[in-house]
Amino acid sequence: MKTRLLGKTPDELKQIALEAGLPAFAGKQMAQWLYQKRVRSIDEMTNLSKQGREALSRSYEVGLTLPVDVQTSVDGTRKYLFPVSCPSVPDAAERPTFAVEAVMIPDDDRKTLCVSSQAGCKMGCKFCMTGRQGFHGNLDAADILSQFFAIDEAADLTNAVFMGMGEPLDNWEQVKRVLDILTANWGLAWSPKRITLSTIGVLPKLKLYLDQSKCHLAVSLHNPFPEEREQLMPVQKAWSITEVVRLIKQYDFTGQRRVSFEYTVFEGWNNEPRHAQALVKLLRNLECRVNLIRFHRIPDFSYGPASREKMEAFRDLLTAGGLTATIRASRGEDIFAACGLLAGKHNQL
Ligand code: SF4
Repeated sequence: MKTRLLGKTPDELKQIALEAGLPAFAGKQMAQWLYQKRVRSIDEMTNLSKQGREALSRSYEVGLTLPVDVQTSVDGTRKYLFPVSCPSVPDAAERPTFAVEAVMIPDDDRKTLCVSSQAGCKMGCKFCMTGRQGFHGNLDAADILSQFFAIDEAADLTNAVFMGMGEPLDNWEQVKRVLDILTANWGLAWSPKRITLSTIGVLPKLKLYLDQSKCHLAVSLHNPFPEEREQLMPVQKAWSITEVVRLIKQYDFTGQRRVSFEYTVFEGWNNEPRHAQALVKLLRNLECRVNLIRFHRIPDFSYGPASREKMEAFRDLLTAGGLTATIRASRGEDIFAACGLLAGKHNQL
């Protein structure tokens, strides 16, 4: 099996170039071909010698994965299905292929990509279809970058949110690699302001993210009371939301970098006035936004969505308490692309 070049840094590419008998500067040239010109084969890297390209091709490939399916919602949202092999199975020939989804959400002049970082997820949030399928493996940087490069809107993407399948901080090493490629001058040179990473609060990795990246942060909060949050989000037992917010408060979100809290509203579970009061208290003195998300009903789950009126009433309580709170529009529901629904229809190809 060939090693994929996509996801490598210029330093790593330099080493690969030298081993293939190419000059050291070919590493930079390869980075340009991969990330700026986005070629799909080594043969297209025409400023490398033919001999060098042949030597490279013996052990390496670009490694772009193409989607096998795309569905388009009535609202223009598009969901792409990518095949990934399961890295946790040691024998490559035996690996099953899993489905990972990426969602492109158009909004006026923006095109935002909702990116997946894992096949399945081990965090087990009870309201999430991805969580229900269990964990199959981490995506590597090439799998994640393929979601950016292999879709029809690749050239027009304006923003990215790491909110698809998986917990990105549970795959920090590969996600960090992708963030570096997206933001470096030798990569896509995106401003970190165009990228948001969403986490349920994997505390040790969250600190690394806050220290090592300038991208925005979104935290899946859903309930301010630890004992209630734990009922639907087992992560609460390992890392309490109180600790997560305490850590976040040590960082500056008054400038370019933003933090938001995702709050899916479940009727009768987290939308009482006491929840609003506790949220206001928890997030006091933090420059942030609370995004209220309508729950999309899933099978065998006891809670249902709150009505529009109840969501507005809850938002008004937060606003009265001094928080900035908005009700987020739901996108791509008809193609199961909305929050919490990814890979509800397929998980193994
Ligand atoms: Fe994993 Fe996110 Fe689903 Fe929780 S909500 S199970 S962290 S994908």
